[in-house]
Amino acid sequence: MLRVAIDTPLRRLFDYRPPADIDPASLVPGKRVLVPFGRRQLVGVLIESASHSDVPAAKLKTALAIIDREPPLDAVTFDLVRFAADYYQHPPGEAFAAALPALLRAGRPLEAIETRWRLAALAESSPPGRLGPKQKAVLAALQGNESIGLDTLDALGGSAREAMRSLVARGYVESFELATPALTRAPAEAGTGPVLNADQERAVAAITAAAGTFAPFLLHGVTGSGKTEVYLRVIESVLARGEQALVLVPEIALTPQALERFSARFAVPLAVLHSGLSDSERLACWRAARSGDAPIVIGTRSAIFVPLTRPGVIVVDEEHDGSYKQQEGFRYSARDLALYRAKALSIPVVLGSATPALETLNNALAGRYRMLSLPTRTGSAGAPRLALVDLRMHEARHGIATPCVLSIERHLGAGGQVLLYLNRRGFAPALFCPGCGWAAPCSACDARMTVHLKSHRLICHHCGAEAPVPYACPRCATELKPVGQGTERIEDALDEFFPGVPVVRIDRDTVNGRGEIEAALARVHGGEARILVGTQMLTKGHDFPDVSLVVVLNADQGLFGTDFRASERLAQSIVQVAGRAGRASRPGEVLIQTACPEHPLLVRLLAGGYEAFAQGALEERAEARWPPFSHLAVLRAESADRAAAMSFLNAARGLALGLESRGVELLGPAPAAMERRAGRHRAQLLIEAGRRGTLKRVLDELMPLIEALPAGRRVRWSIDVDPLDVG
Ligand code: ADP
Ligand code: ZN
Ligand code: ZN
Repeated sequence: MLRVAIDTPLRRLFDYRPPADIDPASLVPGKRVLVPFGRRQLVGVLIESASHSDVPAAKLKTALAIIDREPPLDAVTFDLVRFAADYYQHPPGEAFAAALPALLRAGRPLEAIETRWRLAALAESSPPGRLGPKQKAVLAALQGNESIGLDTLDALGGSAREAMRSLVARGYVESFELATPALTRAPAEAGTGPVLNADQERAVAAITAAAGTFAPFLLHGVTGSGKTEVYLRVIESVLARGEQALVLVPEIALTPQALERFSARFAVPLAVLHSGLSDSERLACWRAARSGDAPIVIGTRSAIFVPLTRPGVIVVDEEHDGSYKQQEGFRYSARDLALYRAKALSIPVVLGSATPALETLNNALAGRYRMLSLPTRTGSAGAPRLALVDLRMHEARHGIATPCVLSIERHLGAGGQVLLYLNRRGFAPALFCPGCGWAAPCSACDARMTVHLKSHRLICHHCGAEAPVPYACPRCATELKPVGQGTERIEDALDEFFPGVPVVRIDRDTVNGRGEIEAALARVHGGEARILVGTQMLTKGHDFPDVSLVVVLNADQGLFGTDFRASERLAQSIVQVAGRAGRASRPGEVLIQTACPEHPLLVRLLAGGYEAFAQGALEERAEARWPPFSHLAVLRAESADRAAAMSFLNAARGLALGLESRGVELLGPAPAAMERRAGRHRAQLLIEAGRRGTLKRVLDELMPLIEALPAGRRVRWSIDVDPLDVG
C-alpha cells in the first residue's frame, strides 16, 4: 500500500496500490508517483509504504507509475517538509507542492537530460529522396549543426516535430540524450576581502569552530558593521571543506548589490533562487543545488526547501524580515525552519540582523543561541546621530517640518545626499470634503481610497480597487481636498522647497522589478540624484555611502498600531533606515518627525538604541503574555456574509472548549481590525498557549474537528501557527 501526498487542500494522505510488476525495493519514500485522482492524473509524493489501508480494498485505486529513480528531496529535506506540514497544520500535498519546482510537480524528469537529434550514417550513404518542405528545413538545420535540441526544432515552426519524427522513423536521423549543464553562468575570478576587525574575527572563528555540529548563532551587528563580510568568510571555509552554503535573503530583486558581492568573491557557480525566475531556470538552479554543482545557494523564503548534497552552513540574512513568513497558503517561517534543518543536519546556522526579531533576541538572551556582536561600523563613519522633531512645535508644510527643511538644505549644501522615508505611497491617504466630512471610501473595504495624482486615480491599497478622482463631494458638491502625505506628494513638495534639485522616488509605483530598481539605484550611486524619497523598499539592505541625512517623516504611524508587533516593526524600520546614513566617511544625522516625542518607545530608542528598545519591549511582552512568552495560532475566517464567519469561529471555539487537551486560552472570536476587505467580512479566533508543545497537541486534536464543521463550507478559513499579524 502506498501513502501518497497529493496537491489538494485536504489535510490527509491518499492510499494507492503499487503499480503492477514493480520491484518493492524501488518504493522509496520521497519519490514522485503518478496517480489517478478523480478524472485526472496527478503527480504525488510517496510518503510511506504501509501494510494495510482503511480504504476498502474494492475502492483502492492503483498508482500508474513511480516517476523517479531516486527521490528528488534528500532525506533531511523530505523530513523537513513533513515536519513543516505537521507543525503549521497544512495539507501535506500542498506542502510538498510548495517545496518542489513547478516542472517537477508537472512530472518532468529529475535528471537534467535533454533529447537532441543528429544526422544518422544513413543520411550520408543514401541521401533521402522525396521530402516535404518541413522535412527539408529540419534536415538543413541538422546539416548545419552537430546536433540540435527542442528549442531549435520548435523555432522551425508548427509541424517540425512531426517532420523530425518521420525522419527518425526513416532512419535518417537519430536521437540521443544529453546531460545538460546545470548552470550556464561562468564563474568569475575570486576576489579577496578586507582584513577583518577583531569583532568580525571572533565571529568567524566561533562559527567555523562549530562546523559539523548544530550551533545556532545570532550575529547581531549594527548596519554597516560587516555582517556580510562575516558570512563571506564563513562560507569560504565551508567551501574549503567541500561543503555547500545555503544563504536565505529577504528579497533578491531589491538588493542586487548583495548578490554582486557573493559573485565577486567566489569563483564558483551560484544558484540563485528567487521569484523572478522562469520555471526552467528555477529547475536548473534547483538541480545545481541538489547535485552539489552549485556550492553556494542563495534564495528567498522557499529556498529553505532546496535539497543539498553536503550542506555545511545555513545563513539567514536580515532574519527579522517579515518576508520569511509566508502569509498565505502554506504559512511557514523559513527562518524557523532553518533552525530545524540545521539541527537535523548538525551544522551551524547564522541568523544575522541589526534589529533582531524579539523572538530571536530572547532566544539569544536565554542562551539558546550564541550571540555574536559587531557593535561598531567599519570604516571611519561613526554611528548616526538621532534626534526627534516635535511636530506640535514646528509647522510642517506638505509634511516636512521647518527644521527638517533647513537640515536638508545644509546637507545638500555640504555635498551630501538626503533620504526621506515615508511608508506610504501615493499622493495622499485620503480625499476629504471640508464641507461635510465625507472621505472617499473603498466600496469593498473598511478603508479610504488613496489619492494617486500622477495617474489621476483613487486606489485602494487593501484590495486594489480603482476609481477616477472625483472633482467635487458627491454629498454636498464642495471641492475635495487630499489630506495627509504619501511619497508622491513629498516628491512634489521637494520640488517646491528645492527647485532644480534632482529627486528619485523609490516605491512600488515607480520601480517595479529588477531592472527599474537597478536604474533608480544607479542614479543614486552615480550621485545624479541628490534626494531620495521612498517607502519600506529603501530600508532593505541598500548601501548609500553619500547619504548623510535621513528624515523619518512619520514615526507616529507605527506608535499606535493594533498589532502587538507594531512597535517592534517601527523600531526596526527606524533603525534600518537610519543605518543607510553615513556609511562611508560622512557622519550621519537622522531626524524623526513625531507628534509624540515623549512616547516611551521613541525615548528608549533614542537614548539606548535598538537594544534598549528591545529590552523594554520584551518586558512588555512578558507582562502581556505575548510571544515569545506565549505561543499563538490564529484561526481566520472570511465571508461575504458577516454572520457566517463569526458562526464558524464560534463553532470552532465550542470544539476547542470541549477538547481533552488543555492548557490553551481562547481569545475571540472577534472581527479583524479592518473588518471588511475586498467585500469579505473577516474575523479571527486566537489560540494561545504557554508552551509550544501544548499548542501543538491542541491543534492536532482540534484541526480534524474544525475541518469537519459544516459551517466551514460557507466561509474561507485558514489556520496560521506562529502568526506575524494578529491585528
Ligand atoms: P552589514 O552587512 O553589516 O551591513 P557589510 O558587510 O555590508 O555590513 O559591510 C559594510 C561595508 O564595510 C562594506 O562596504 C564592506 O565591504 C566594508 N567592510 C566590511 N568589513 C570590513 C573590514 N573589516 N574592513 C574594511 N571594510 C570592511
Ligand atoms: Zn461634502
Ligand atoms: Zn478596497
